[in-house]
Amino acid sequence: MIRLAGPSAATGCDIYGKAEFMNPGGSIKDRTALGILDAAERAGQLQPGGTIVEGTAGNTGIGLTMLARARHYRTLIVMPETQSREKIEALRVLGAELELVKAVPYSDPGNYARVAQKRAQEIPGAIFANQFDNLANRDIHAATTGVEIWDEMDGRIDAFVSAAGTGGTIAGVGQTLKQRDARVRVILADPHGSGLYDWIKTGTPHAEGSSITEGIGQGRVTENLAAAQIDDAVRIDDQTAMDWCWRLLRDEGLNVGTSTGVNVAGAIEIARRLGPGHRIVTVLCDGGQRYASKMFDAAFLKSKGIKPPDWLPG
Ligand code: PMP
Repeated sequence: MIRLAGPSAATGCDIYGKAEFMNPGGSIKDRTALGILDAAERAGQLQPGGTIVEGTAGNTGIGLTMLARARHYRTLIVMPETQSREKIEALRVLGAELELVKAVPYSDPGNYARVAQKRAQEIPGAIFANQFDNLANRDIHAATTGVEIWDEMDGRIDAFVSAAGTGGTIAGVGQTLKQRDARVRVILADPHGSGLYDWIKTGTPHAEGSSITEGIGQGRVTENLAAAQIDDAVRIDDQTAMDWCWRLLRDEGLNVGTSTGVNVAGAIEIARRLGPGHRIVTVLCDGGQRYASKMFDAAFLKSKGIKPPDWLPG
């Protein structure tokens, strides 16, 4: 758990980030991969040499493939082609079989998660990891991430703020924290292009716009989200999220990925609403190196309407 000096100073609160970029596969999704794989093995669904198929923005695929090497399974990873080339390279190096598909909504049969489900049915001895609707994802966060956060904060937490992709993190951590102290506020931070902000505010998901952030945002209420206890939502634009990524890097030596920018900006927004003296926790989901070709490329950023930091060449 890292106390974030800049965000804390800016708000008069204590804002902490759980350093999930330090996991062996480099992201919070290592936990999801482990939870899903253990559950499938316990249920006898996976035989030696079997194939794990998953639709992923990349990080779950990295976690699954790393574990699959150690446990002697194969992986077929289906990913939208818009994801960073660093994640694609990491999957290639680990030996995943990769299928890149167009980035289309879940309602389209060409959507990466739906293609993955179809491939799992076609391949003998394969399982569909199904991180979006498999509750083993939420459960591993309830049993590990949530418990660790509670312990590391000595049980003194006013709010937990997190973006959602599958919703496993916010559902699982929220469940544990609220079980231990019902006063803990659980807040969703949502990028543009995601339907979840409207879902929390109105009960119906509605997506508009787009974001350069990866791994977060969702157009539908996944099974992991359906049972989540979420008190409120904030919407974070890309410029605000990226400015915090760059500030954490320049001022605190923390190189975090794009979704972490949304999380930290969301935590700051909630700190301002609660007022000074509160203790707020968020997640540092993965590292910025995984998005270097986007986060540190001035031409790319400008093409997306984002103002690069003045220290970035070009
Ligand atoms: N950040 C990153 C970088 C991710 O890869 C993901 C997972 N897709 C998330 C955040 C969101 O986590 P969750 O799926 O638990 O909602």
